[in-house]
Amino acid sequence: MDNKKLIGDLLHAHGLKKTPIRTEMLALFMDHDFALSASDIVAKMTAGHDRVTIYRALSSFEKHGILHRASEDGQGIKYALCGQHCPDEPHTDKHAHFICDECHQTYCLEDVKVPKANISNEFSVTGVSYTLSGICKQCNR
Ligand SMILES: [Zn+2]
Ligand SMILES: [Zn+2]
Ligand SMILES: [Zn+2]
Repeated sequence: MDNKKLIGDLLHAHGLKKTPIRTEMLALFMDHDFALSASDIVAKMTAGHDRVTIYRALSSFEKHGILHRASEDGQGIKYALCGQHCPDEPHTDKHAHFICDECHQTYCLEDVKVPKANISNEFSVTGVSYTLSGICKQCNR
C-alpha cells in the first residue's frame, strides 16, 4: 500500500493541510503497530524538528480524530492511529488497550470493546480507559 497517498487522503478527509512534518509523523504511526509518545516521535524523526512543532501536530491530529490517546505513563501520553469511523473531534476510542510489562509498548485492541458501565446519572463520564497488561506478541516470541 502507498502510505504517502493514504496519508494525503487522511489529512484531507480531516480538513488538515498536508505538511512535510505531518506526513512524516503519520508515516511513523503507520509503520508501528504500537502507540507512540511525543519523545518516541522526536527520536524517530529524520530531520531535527523541535518538540513544540511535534506537540502542536499531535494535538491537531487529536483534535481532528486522526489519533487517539492510547495510554499515559511517566513518559507521557502515547497516541495511536484512529480507525476509519472516528469522529472529527477529540475522543476516547471505545476499544481496550494492552500495555506490555516487558517492553512497555501500548497496543490497540480494536476488537475488544470497552464494556458499557451502568453508572448512575449523578455522575457524568468524560473518559473511559480500559487497559489490559501482560506480555505482548513481540515479547512472547
Ligand atoms: Zn479514534
Ligand atoms: Zn512487549
Ligand atoms: Zn487505541
